[in-house]
Order: sequence, then C-alpha cells, then structure tokens
Amino acid sequence: MNHSKGPIAVVGAGIIGTTLAFELQRRGESVVLVDRDAPGKGASYGNMASIAVTEFLPASRPAVWAQMPKWLLDPEGPVRIRPGYLPRLLPWFLRFLAASRPSKLRELEAAGAVLCQRVHEDLDALLRHTGLSHMLSVEGCLSLYRDDAEYRADREHIELLERFGFRHEVLDGNAARALEPALTREIGRAVLFPDNRSISDPYRFVTAIAERFLALGGTIERGEVADFEDRDGAVSALRLKDGRRIAASRTVIAAGAYTARLSRLLDEPIPLETERGYHTQIMAPGIAMRHSIIWPARAFMVTPTAGGIRVGGTVEMAGLDAAPDYRRARVLLKRAQEALPQLQAGEASEWMGHRPALPDTVPVMGPSAKRRALYYATGHGHLGLTYAATNARLMADLLTGIEPPIDLTPYRVDRF
Ligand SMILES: Cc1cc2nc3c(=O)[nH]c(=O)nc-3n(C[C@H](O)[C@H](O)[C@H](O)COP(=O)(O)OP(=O)(O)OC[C@H]3O[C@@H](n4cnc5c(N)ncnc54)[C@H](O)[C@@H]3O)c2cc1C
Repeated sequence: MNHSKGPIAVVGAGIIGTTLAFELQRRGESVVLVDRDAPGKGASYGNMASIAVTEFLPASRPAVWAQMPKWLLDPEGPVRIRPGYLPRLLPWFLRFLAASRPSKLRELEAAGAVLCQRVHEDLDALLRHTGLSHMLSVEGCLSLYRDDAEYRADREHIELLERFGFRHEVLDGNAARALEPALTREIGRAVLFPDNRSISDPYRFVTAIAERFLALGGTIERGEVADFEDRDGAVSALRLKDGRRIAASRTVIAAGAYTARLSRLLDEPIPLETERGYHTQIMAPGIAMRHSIIWPARAFMVTPTAGGIRVGGTVEMAGLDAAPDYRRARVLLKRAQEALPQLQAGEASEWMGHRPALPDTVPVMGPSAKRRALYYATGHGHLGLTYAATNARLMADLLTGIEPPIDLTPYRVDRF
C-alpha cells in the first residue's frame, strides 16, 4: 500500500474510468478523474449500447480463423486490415495466434463468462446508486439466421452459452417477426438473448454518471496526461501536457485504446490495439424496433436508442491515427437494410471509435506488475459498456483493500 498523499487519480473519463471514479467516490474515497476531453467522447460515445452478456467468445477461436482469409480478401468483409498497418500489427497478431490454442481458448472462455455472469448484478447496483435505471431497456437481442445452415454455423456460440448457463430461446422466422415486425421474410430462424439488454444513450450514460460523481464531491480535471512521477518505485503524481501536476496516492490508467501509450512511459508495455468500429445513427428511420438485432453471418448490429436507430459494428485494424473510412459504416447500413427492408436512412450521422483490444479478448483489470500505487483498467474490447459496472466493482474492491468476489488472476497485466 502506498502512503503518498493525494486523491486516487483515474486517467480516462470513458465509461470504464467514469464508472470506477463514481464507485470509489461513493465508497468515501477522494477521486480526481482526468481526461484531455470532456467525459464520454472516446469509444464510449457511440458504441452499440448493448449489455452484451452473451458475447464473451474469444476472438481468436477457430471459426474466426476459418473465415479470416475470405474476410480479408473482401473489401466489404467484417474485418479489414489496412495494408500499411500490417507490419505494426504483427506482434499483436502473433499473440492473437497464441491465444487460439484449444486449452487457452477454454481458459479465455471461462474468464469472459465469469465476468458476464456478474454483469447484471453489478449493473443493477450501479443503476440504483446513480438513479439511472430508466436508461436500461429490458428488451433482449435477436440473433438472426437466414436458414438452418447459417444457424448451424453459429452452433459453437450457442453451445458455449449452454455450457455457462446463459439464457437463450430458439425461434422460427415467424416468431422472430412477431417480436420485430420490421424484419425481412428472409429470416428463417433466430435466437433471442433475453439478458442482452441495452442502454438508451451510451454517451448520456457516461455524462450522467460523471454528474453523479461530481455531486458526491469528486473532481474532474481536463488535461492530457503526458508523464508520471515516481517516488521509490511508486507512482506519486501525474504530469499534464500543460505543465500542471496532480499528486495521487494511487493512479488507475483507464485511457481505453490509448492506455498502452501511457503504460510505455512506465516501462510496462501492454499489447493493446485499436479495433476501430463504426456506427450510423438514423434520426428518422421510418420503422420502430424494441429489440436489438445481430446477424452473425453478415456481421452487423442494430440497436434502438433514444436518438433513433443505430447501425454499427465492423473491425478495422488501422491504428489510432489514421483517418476514418466511412465506407465501412455504409456497408453496415446496406446490410441492415437487407434485414430491415423499410429502414430509411435520410437524416443520419456517422461515427468511428477505438475499441481497446487485447489479443486474448479478456480485459486487463488489476495492479501494475512494475510500479506500486499503479493500476490498469483497460482492454475491454467489444464489451466495455457491458463490463463497466463489473470492472468498477472489482477494481474498487482492489483499491479499497477488499477481497474481490472473483479471482482476478486471468486479468493481470503481465500475462502476455
Ligand atoms: C462501433 C462500436 C460498437 C461497440 N458496441 C459495444 C456494445 O454494444 N456493448 C459494449 O459493451 N461495448 C461496445 N463497444 C466497446 C466499448 O465502446 C468500449 O469497450 C468502451 O467504450 C471502452 O471504454 P473506455 O472507457 O475504456 O475507453 P474510452 O471511452 O475510449 O475512454 C478513454 C478516455 O481516455 C482519454 N485519454 C486517452 N489518453 C489520455 C491521456 N493521455 N490523458 C488524458 N486522457 C486520455 C480519452 O480522451 C477518452 O475519453 C463498441 C465499440 C465500438 C467502437
């Protein structure tokens, strides 16, 4: 335990950092949340709003490898690697390869499932403590299949859910259309995931939690963290780009896909990449929906949100600095219109965000292996919104000297 003076500093006011800052402040700690931007403007701004408890499958599984060559050759495929970025991606890709051994996959599935099994309990507590229960839709998510062949191709996913006890209900096409009348008649089968709920507005969710954090006496500092001070092997202060210094008794780096840039300053490299994703937000969609939908064979998602219907997904590996390629968002929109033929996209906006992605899909949540008084909460990948309340619960336990309810070994930073 570090005895330096000062508040707990949380770097990064995305859904991960903001929720953790709130939880620590609620427990009576003094917390300063630091971001170069206003809260919620990173990946947490425009995600697909889904509390996707059934989506913890490791990305390095055989079904993904089998499809990879086809996807990579198809400019409209669900995964795109910008050719110029390939050499920089190689070290991450080798670790991704290492995460595809069968015994490793079993471990990673269990590590994801253990988190997802906690999600609703932790989220309910967060919603109660923040008074934000009205932002959670209780409708589930429909996974769509054109026919039995497509459904069989997704059996591995369903079997995994059965193994870990996640609820799901297999429907025929008519039953799916009874739930969502706007669906095309082409859908022959669907699976309802009743526990994959959604948040009405992910950006507003972050800002509302930030407001509750401030109301409890927390502090938000706007500034870019450029370096850290070290006292006897413990991080004792943040240095901001504008020259300011923030003393901290403990520091948590929760800077999303940018975390590795900061951890490198502390001689602690983390193999974190950005899996860039896109959305189109349609203000006047011309249809009404209650459930979110995914179509695994076509790799897109549609979610009804407070500001209209959101279509999104895709993975683009091109690093943190390349300009967005909104053609990727348009491909997703085209696919969504195949599922929802009456979906209109007249008044719409496009967005790109950086998922913080580790090669083994499981997040990093825990202490630094190199410095005292330093912690990481990052790499939540496709599930940052889903995991936010659980991450906050577990990390707040760790920071306040309480034994967390699950073993955090699988999420340690020095596992790579
Ligand atoms: C298209 C898309 C769809 C998605 N859909 C879902 C979904 O349906 N469900 C789900 O659970 N997840 C989803 N995700 C993933 C989810 O959005 C992310 O996992 C999550 O937002 C990550 O949160 P974060 O707080 O770690 O990062 P961010 O929200 O990116 O926040 C990081 C913050 O750190 C700040 N920062 C970075 N560097 C510094 C620095 N040096 N100094 C100060 N501040 C700094 C940034 O300004 C930023 O505010 C999706 C993502 C995308 C892109």
